[in-house]
Amino acid sequence: MKIKDIMQTMAYGPAPESSAEARDWIKTRSVIPHFIGGKFPAPEGETTEVYNPATDEVLTRVALGTEAEVDAAVKAARAALPKWTALAGHERATYLYALARHVQKRERFLAVLETLDNGKTIRETRDIDIPLVARHFYHHAGWAEMIESDFPGLSPVGVCGQIIPWNFPLLMLAWKVAPALAAGNTVVLKPADLTPLTAMAFAEICVEIGLPAGVVNIVQGDGATGAALAGHSDVNKLAFTGSTDVGRVLRRQLAGSGKRLSLELGGKSPFIVFEDADLDAAVEGVVDAIWFNQGEVCCAGSRILVQEGVAERFFAKLDARLQTLRVGDPLDKTMDMGAVVSRKQLARITALLAQGEAEGATLRRAPVILPETGAFCAPGYFSGTAPAHTVSQTEIFGPVATTLTFRTPDEAVTLANDTRYGLSASVWSENINRAIETAAAVKAGVVWINATNIFDAGAPFGGMRESGFGREGGRLGMLEYLTRPQIARKPRLEPSAPDIAPFTGKADRPAIDITAKLYIGGKQVRADGGQSYTVMGKNGAIGQAAMANRKDIRNAVEAAAKAGGWGGVTAHNRAQVLYFLAENLEQRRAEFVAALTAAGTPKPGDEVEAAIRRAFWAAAQADKFDGSVTATKSRHVTMTVNEPFGVMGIVAPDEAPLLGLLALILPAVAMGNRVVAVASQSHPLVGARLYQVLETSDVPAGVINLVTGERDVLAKTLAEHDEVAALWYCGSASGAAMVETASVGNLKPVWAETGVRDWQTPDPDLLRKATQGKTIWIPYGA
Ligand code: NDP
Repeated sequence: MKIKDIMQTMAYGPAPESSAEARDWIKTRSVIPHFIGGKFPAPEGETTEVYNPATDEVLTRVALGTEAEVDAAVKAARAALPKWTALAGHERATYLYALARHVQKRERFLAVLETLDNGKTIRETRDIDIPLVARHFYHHAGWAEMIESDFPGLSPVGVCGQIIPWNFPLLMLAWKVAPALAAGNTVVLKPADLTPLTAMAFAEICVEIGLPAGVVNIVQGDGATGAALAGHSDVNKLAFTGSTDVGRVLRRQLAGSGKRLSLELGGKSPFIVFEDADLDAAVEGVVDAIWFNQGEVCCAGSRILVQEGVAERFFAKLDARLQTLRVGDPLDKTMDMGAVVSRKQLARITALLAQGEAEGATLRRAPVILPETGAFCAPGYFSGTAPAHTVSQTEIFGPVATTLTFRTPDEAVTLANDTRYGLSASVWSENINRAIETAAAVKAGVVWINATNIFDAGAPFGGMRESGFGREGGRLGMLEYLTRPQIARKPRLEPSAPDIAPFTGKADRPAIDITAKLYIGGKQVRADGGQSYTVMGKNGAIGQAAMANRKDIRNAVEAAAKAGGWGGVTAHNRAQVLYFLAENLEQRRAEFVAALTAAGTPKPGDEVEAAIRRAFWAAAQADKFDGSVTATKSRHVTMTVNEPFGVMGIVAPDEAPLLGLLALILPAVAMGNRVVAVASQSHPLVGARLYQVLETSDVPAGVINLVTGERDVLAKTLAEHDEVAALWYCGSASGAAMVETASVGNLKPVWAETGVRDWQTPDPDLLRKATQGKTIWIPYGA
């Protein structure tokens, strides 16, 4: 062909990347083994085939780890832990640096290996996955270096189990392994059985750099291997990335185990195009949002929302762009899309697309001729989708988006948030006010303004709602792998069943027989069931408290939900209210001392004093516990803001009935949450006395709701409630297991404190536990 002819069509010629080196490597590994204690032992269990999804060829086989192999790996990690933890941060930094360097030296090899195994294009593995892997190890070499200065008083969590999916195999490994190692933990990682190759190559790099044996262990295998790892009694933390369904299984499996858990799950992320957006840029954004990595991206912009005025123009441009997408051999450097990970995944996508069409949506696809072999899927989008359609709500995890139009910015936010997920969002507008306002209003852990799917090791990544909890990357990511030194605590006991027989004792309010009520929506209300229970003091019965039921909890949650304005008032205003609350507590000091004395509290005066100080502390923190701005890509401001959860459930401890209750409520409220708090079951009258304090302190109605009654009945209702976005539970070990299990509905983060605690000193960790980081990426430059 002559250059003149080429200029006529401007068609791409084939530009394949050589896979010879990677294939030679594969050839000498007829089975991918585990990596345990620095060795590659012959697998004990079965093996399964590893395919190249672009060609259907069998590349090799991979071991399916047995329980015994998982156990051996956990033992190796445990054995390696003391020495690894004892190393100075700088020494760990040198290992992480060496991992980064060696990944970088083999970038091309690893990129090709990943492409062969996963089907994604070489363009993406070469330019995105592997460079980000190296960046992650460099970044965390830095955290290891700074560990003593930047995380004083914190220690590693211990042995970490890590389970990763197949869509970014080596990158997900890096996201998990790098922070864990930097913080001084040892790990047992299970890759997805569909994509084990780069994890094996990484294990070889660990040997090459002389990483101490047992610091990183890799057990290959499928879901059963993952379940064995999650269930192993000597694992201290589990970090999981994958589907929301498996996230739920793991939440249930770990309930009551006391293991730390972080979940990075699925999404159905909105891609919002306002009429003042640069439409050409937004169309390129769609390419990166949903056609990147074959759409197999948890944070894919899979719901495109376009403002009506520009919808016609936008979709015309999108259609034109769709025509030019190239799908085929992923090793060809000119391809936009390769193969999806497996024929099974292709069948899943195809079935969902058929369902979308059956429900009335129209599927528009790129006019591509797909290769005859391999699991290829033509990219496209649905038009005519309604919010209720299955494809609008379910993660397709393939290269097809749904689309909707909207009229007003408010409607855009409502549609964006009309999903059970909350992983990411992409906002397109040339109006910075509108873009940031929308970023603040969408429920998502990551928001890209005029951009999409950009990642950096320094920028925390993770979800809200059913997209999971915990963050990866940056300082917040490090904190997932660090803990305060564990103090042995007396376990909390089951409270005895409340006595609901009519009250005959002498109350501490002699004049009138008052039964303490509930405090919901800024008002004192009787319990729905009209029941009350007898409260025992040091010397017998001292009064009656309202016995709330499920309906009361639901009413309280509704009141809290309506008080959404609290998250929007300035931190200064929140601080003022909390100072006022301290002032009013001070005025009633004697009354609270008397109530605590009647309840039999050991040092009532000290407790009231500490409660007043705690209000001052929370007020002080309201405008000081801040997010951060991180240096990531050039010409970007990447900021992480601490957002309140919204409605939080709090189940207060029995010890320190006043201080324990306020120690939990105050930081939650200072951070902008509204709370439904269950006061101590044994000493509810102390909490009930707070109503007057709240009423006189300008706490807006619904911001603090207080209920009394049977702890675990009320805790269960809070745990199950979809509107409750986070739960703090002080109770018994079996109660903790119960609330953690009950939380699987909306996958709210649960913090369960099962040991009796000293509440005298403020706990700064509670501020972090009361917030979720939202990372907002803002590019600049014309
Ligand atoms: P899974 O959630 O099943 O897989 C993620 C990881 O968990 C894999 O390593 C898997 O092992 C492992 N696993 C599976 N079951 C268990 C279990 N019971 N206990 C412990 N570990 C387990 O995702 P799939 O691969 O099945 O994909 C299904 C769908 O999930 C996709 O279509 C997509 O919608 C979503 N998904 C979302 C991802 C995200 O990043 N948000 C990533 C991947 C998938 P193995 O694969 O070896 O069986």
